[in-house]
This record gives sequence, structure tokens and C-alpha cells, in this order.
Amino acid sequence: MGLATDLVERKMFRSIWIKFFIVLLIVSLFALSAAYILRELMIRDFRYYLEGEMEDKVYRVIANIEGSYEKYSGWNIDSLNENTIWALMLGLEIKIKDLNNRIIIDTETAFNKLSPSMQRRIKAITDIGLISKDKDFSPYPLFISGKEIGRLEVRFLYPEKEFFFIERSNRFLLFSLFAVGCAVTLFSIIFSRKLTEPIKKLDYAASAISAGDLKSRVEIAGSDEIKRLSETFNKMAENLEKQDLLRKKLISNVAHELRTPITVIKGEVEGMMDGLVPADKEHLLSLYEEINRIKKILDGIEDISQAEVSAMWIKKQKIHLKPFLKSIVERFSRIFIDKGINFEFINGEEIELNADPDRISQIVINLLSNALKATERGGNIWVKTGKHDSEVFIEIGDTGHGIKPDDLPYIFERFYKVSEGGLGLGLSIAKELAEAHGGRIVAKSTYGKGSSFTVFIPY
Ligand code: ADP
Repeated sequence: MGLATDLVERKMFRSIWIKFFIVLLIVSLFALSAAYILRELMIRDFRYYLEGEMEDKVYRVIANIEGSYEKYSGWNIDSLNENTIWALMLGLEIKIKDLNNRIIIDTETAFNKLSPSMQRRIKAITDIGLISKDKDFSPYPLFISGKEIGRLEVRFLYPEKEFFFIERSNRFLLFSLFAVGCAVTLFSIIFSRKLTEPIKKLDYAASAISAGDLKSRVEIAGSDEIKRLSETFNKMAENLEKQDLLRKKLISNVAHELRTPITVIKGEVEGMMDGLVPADKEHLLSLYEEINRIKKILDGIEDISQAEVSAMWIKKQKIHLKPFLKSIVERFSRIFIDKGINFEFINGEEIELNADPDRISQIVINLLSNALKATERGGNIWVKTGKHDSEVFIEIGDTGHGIKPDDLPYIFERFYKVSEGGLGLGLSIAKELAEAHGGRIVAKSTYGKGSSFTVFIPY
């Protein structure tokens, strides 16, 4: 592989890889932002839920403190201690203040009064060690029978829990980002490799063809557009190879065909110049005939190249086969009579065919002309039509001299002729035109007895 090809290939591979990567990244970013929005919504709901829970707990603590005040007709430190520890276990840090804004008890004092074993136990079930000092206390007034007795100040411990929750979800998000990033890169590499592999092969094959190696093909694998592209590519390469072969064959055939008349003309003219051959009417006539032969060959070449062009430009339309063939056959009726040939038109049902009328008539004329050439006075020629599976057939048969089995496989080849006179192009043109319709021509012959040529065209 050349350095330049290597470079182009690497560039192509990289550009596809990058495109894949970007597309996958955009998709993943969408998915991650959706996950982020979902997380935000969940945290908001979670916060509402916690706040609601906490508010309930605060009101329960207030009710207990007010109950204790009423029970003991004033502030009872032991009872307040109990309430404070209970509030702590509910996740609340509190301060109970009297009307003079003096702290009667707060969580820290109540906690310190506990025995070390109790402290350890409570620490284990509360967030006291994690209390965030920057959160403000919220005040709640304390009442007994409509009279204010003091104030409860509360600070929730849950922000630490929330922080922990957010921290965890952040970590999770970061991990997902990393995992998705790795997956995206991996997928981009695998996919772009998988996608570029057949493209690379197509690129090699196309380069080989453009460099003149018309035998180059790509292997067909998979079932997607690339497979169809490979199939089309191979078909194109096959056509190119076939066209190239035909072109070479045509040139050599033409050269071969022209050589004989030109050699004859050259010899005659040289003889005339040397005075060995008289330039009389008889010799000039023979020269004229040779020139006519050259003209016929050139006309034939024109016909075949025209057939090639028209094979590419088929203008299909509805043809009513019976009247259509009748009008063609009528053009030959005079010749049939003059040659003393019996003609029969065997036509059963009315058939409609979707085809190019000019091309079909050219096929029929070529086959009829051949039958006429092969059939002697008193012989028979017939045209028969019908349907066979999904095809319409037109059979042109004769009781002429037939074709030798050795010649039969080659009669459709360009310039292949059995008898002298023709150019050997009529059948190859007919075959080309039938194939342009997706059809075919089948030849059968018994030497000495007659032949039949059947054109099959799908309808
Ligand atoms: P040409 O233009 O020379 O007739 P074709 O391609 O039409 O060339 O035919 C090729 C050869 O096949 C001819 O040379 C001819 O001998 C033979 N051939 C074609 N049709 C018939 C037929 N109906 N009966 C016998 N031979 C035939």
C-alpha cells in the first residue's frame, strides 16, 4: 500500500470516527442532561418531603414542651432535658428560651449531661457530630392557654443528610459520565471500523478499476446499504469488463472484416497502376463491389453501436402484439410470394406487451430476414406468439437449411456468420435488444431441416 493511499485511508477513517464520536456524544449528553434534570427534581421532592417531616416533628416537640410546662406549672429542667434528647433523636437541635430570651436548656447542655454510654448510643443514631454550624435556628413561640411562655429555637440536622445524598448522586453522575465517555469512545471505534471496512474495500476496488484492472471486485457481506452498494459496484465492474471485451472484439472483428476488401482493392489498383490489370468497366465494377462491401461493414458497425445505445434507451409502451406483428409481416408478403414461400401466422389469444415497438420490430425483421435467406422455394416460414410463464414469446421458424450443431453456439456473436453474404451482426443486434428488455432469444435448429428463433420478453 502506498504512502498516499495510507494517508487518505487514515484521514477517511478518522473523519468517520469523529462523526460517529460526535453523534454518540450528543446522544449521551442528551441522556445525561435528562438524568441530571431527573435528579434535580428528585432532590427537590426529597427536600419537600424532609421539610414536611421535620415540621411535624417540631410541632410534636412543641406540644411536649408546652405539656411539661403545664404539668409542672413552670420550667422543669429534668423534663426539658428528656424532651431535648428526644428532639435530638428526632433529628432536631433545639434551644428553649424563656420570655427574657435566656436559654433554659439547649441540645449541647442536655447531651453533655448524659452518661458517656448514653452519649455514645445517641451519637450512633443521630447526626449530632455532623451538625452544620452555619445553619440558622428557626424560632417557634411557646404558648399555654393563649399566653406566651417562651421560645423554642430549632435547627434541623437533615442538611447533612441531604448533603450526603447530593454528594452521592454527584459521584454517581460523575461515574456515569466517565462510563458513558468510555463506552462512547469504544463504540465509535468499533462502529467506525465496522463501517469503514467495506468502504475501504470499495475504495481499493474502485482505485484498481480506475487504474485499468477491470477484473477487480469487492466481496459482498452483510445485508445493509453497503451490501447493495457492493453488489451495484460489482455489477458496474462486470459491465465495464464486458464492454471493454466487446470493444476489443469489435475492433479486431472490424479490422479483420475490412482487411479482405481493402486487400482486394489495393491489389486491383496496384495492378492498374502497373498496367497489369486493365482499368476497364469490368474491373472498375469489381472495385465498386468491394467498396460497397466496406460500406456495408461500416453500416453494420453503425447499426451495432446504435443497437448498443438504444439498448440503453428503451422507451416502453403498450403493444397489441397481433396487429403489431401483422403490420411487420405484411412488409415481407411480396418477397414471400416472389420466392414462393408459404407463410403462416399462428396467433392464439390477444397479447398485450409492454416494450419498445421500434426495438421489437427490429428484432422480428432481423429474424424474418434470416429465415428468408435460409429458406428455399416451396419452404415454410411461420411466426407464432403466445405466453409462457411470465413471458411473452414470439417464435420465428423456417424449414430452411438449418444450422450445424458446431455453429449453433456462436451464431449470436458479433461478425459470426455461417454463410457468405451477411455481416454476422443481425442476431447479435437482436439478442442485445431482447436483453435490454430483460428478455432473451433461444435458437433451435436441425441441420438440413430448419430452425426456430424464439424471443422471450417478460410482460
Ligand atoms: P447475418 O447478418 O450475416 O445474417 P446473423 O447474425 O443474422 O448474421 O446470423 C449469423 C449466422 O447464423 C448467419 O451467417 C446464418 O448463416 C446463420 N443463421 C441465422 N439465422 C438462420 C436461420 N434461420 N437458418 C439458418 N441459418 C441461420
